Amino acid sequence: MALLESWFERHETTITSVLTLGMALGVYSLGLRVLVNYPLQNAALLPRSAVEEVVREEKVRLSLDKTVVVKVVDDAADRGSSRRIGENSYEITLDARALSKPLIRHELYHVAAGHCDHESNPLLYWFYQEPAAGLYVLRSLKMEH
Ligand SMILES: [Zn+2]
Repeated sequence: MALLESWFERHETTITSVLTLGMALGVYSLGLRVLVNYPLQNAALLPRSAVEEVVREEKVRLSLDKTVVVKVVDDAADRGSSRRIGENSYEITLDARALSKPLIRHELYHVAAGHCDHESNPLLYWFYQEPAAGLYVLRSLKMEH
């Protein structure tokens, strides 16, 4: 026991730092999840037939002058995703069970902000691109009401 105590004393700063960092990351990831999911969960669902029209409107709102191919799939791993498929050409994939204006907005924001133009980087994604998309959707909803 004395051995453990002295080990703890010697490493107290490290242990405290690791625990603090772990808690900070936990709080951050929870906050990010709320920020991104809240507007999506409370959104009215769209029928498939409305998707193309909403994409057109949202592209105008974002001044997005790129080709965006929209894929609606029945069992997507993610609710939505976006990627570059060629020169000035992008694809957004949307889960049919979660079609909504905020979801389309979120994915188109990634395209408009250039998030799909580089090799994906998890740190950049979690600490910059995802919160930026979440904030854009929140701000846009506020402006509508
Ligand atoms: Zn996203």
